[in-house]
Amino acid sequence: MTISGYNSWPFKEAQKLRNRFPEPPHIPVRFETGFGPSGMPHIGTFAEIARTTWVRHAFEFLTQYPTQLIAFSDDMDGLRKVPLNLPQQEMLTQNLGRPLCYIPDPFGECESYSAFMNKKLNEFLDRYQFDYTFQSSHEAYTRGDFNDGLAAILQKVEEIKAIILPTMSREKRVNWSPFFPICEKCARIYSTRVTTYYPENNTIEYICDREEGLVKSCGHKGRISIFNGKVKVGWKIDWALRWYSYDIGYEMYGKDLIESAKLSGKIVRIMGKQPPMGLFYELFLDEEGRKISKSIGKGLTIDAWMSYAPLDSLLFYIFQNPKQAKRLFWGVVPKSVDDYLTDLSHYDRLDPGKQPDSTIWHLFNKGAMVPDYGSSINFSLINNLISAVGADDIDLILEYLKRYDSSMEDFIDIIEDLVKKAMSYYRDFILPNKKYRTPNNAEKRILKQLRDELAGYEGNDEDELQSIPFSVARMFNETPKNLFKMFYEVLFGQERGPRFGTFVQLVGKEKALNLLDTASGS
Ligand SMILES: [Zn+2]
Repeated sequence: MTISGYNSWPFKEAQKLRNRFPEPPHIPVRFETGFGPSGMPHIGTFAEIARTTWVRHAFEFLTQYPTQLIAFSDDMDGLRKVPLNLPQQEMLTQNLGRPLCYIPDPFGECESYSAFMNKKLNEFLDRYQFDYTFQSSHEAYTRGDFNDGLAAILQKVEEIKAIILPTMSREKRVNWSPFFPICEKCARIYSTRVTTYYPENNTIEYICDREEGLVKSCGHKGRISIFNGKVKVGWKIDWALRWYSYDIGYEMYGKDLIESAKLSGKIVRIMGKQPPMGLFYELFLDEEGRKISKSIGKGLTIDAWMSYAPLDSLLFYIFQNPKQAKRLFWGVVPKSVDDYLTDLSHYDRLDPGKQPDSTIWHLFNKGAMVPDYGSSINFSLINNLISAVGADDIDLILEYLKRYDSSMEDFIDIIEDLVKKAMSYYRDFILPNKKYRTPNNAEKRILKQLRDELAGYEGNDEDELQSIPFSVARMFNETPKNLFKMFYEVLFGQERGPRFGTFVQLVGKEKALNLLDTASGS
């Protein structure tokens, strides 16, 4: 066993997985992520695939083994309730209890409800250039991928019931079976119950007579094969069935699925194989620390993040300790962008042996495609600049930035993109919260003094510039803290702002004097 020496979490995960494969396996080591196509892909889908990809890449780097990421869509799942954000509510209500792959597409674009959602998932993953193999559950069942596993489940049906039943309420235990036959007459899946098992020839007998909520039944009785898509298994069993049939080596899941993962792990062991390695991650929270609910759709979307900040800064944010709950709201954007840019600009200076522990290495395809960034300009600085000069003229802002950091032309693509996004962020989130304060006469005198001291200073050294407000504070027997607060409230309409020295360097002495003139009323 080789200890990799890398400490970033994807390497820790990869090392665990590596211990399972002392010899190179004869098939690719498979990673899986699951998608429920009752709704659109969202930021949770994105985060799970990104995190799995990071572990996969670390594993490839450590072992050189071939790997595969299966993005599995559970499109045989039945529709339990009608999502409120979809059209054709009445048609969908009529189809409650049917597998998603047998329900018409409410948008009328694809052959089924799930075909539409699967298309959205593929477009979504392609857009962010993930490397994955899509697998539809319906196709897998129909093609017979699961037949061996289904036979194993039927052989062990009593053992499986003994594991699952104690986790259910008493009423639900009565009719429970791992198998959900799809009624041959009405195509519903949640209206049927198994009446007899025939493991000797892999068939079951069922009746379609369960009615729950709005799910109807038709009374049909039949005996069918468990093979080739005529029957689905309940989802915890389904999870185990996928692991079993595709020899999944690694899968991660949200904290809300810990108990389900344990049960699925027990089931796959009963079937005769090992559950995959994996880790559970904490969920995203909203600004107040509440779980972001998929159905309410509250919280940030990826598109929204991308209109205010680079996508890579979102990946950077998602990368940080997956076991720590993350708040996802507008307030986290500026710090994420700045942390990302700091790491990006330091990456080149890292010892190559240490680079794989940098978030940047993971973000950019095992360090192969890291963009060059050597400027000290970041998102906060741009926002501060916009606070001082307004968000109307991008050329003007770029002009100021060039004066502040002459090397910025070398990174103009990154910086121009940042400026455009910062302008949107400023207009939508900063400007509406600004409260400019009119200074009283005593404060005007302080600002006037600050102006005069600055006017009398000849150099352009940031530390020397920064010392000016401190000496003015001393002259007026005021604390620097109070002086800065007043300065920011009057000039920026906010309680905090850039360092005075940085601010003067950024806008130039002339502009700074103008702003102080206006503020002090002189
Ligand atoms: Zn029926």
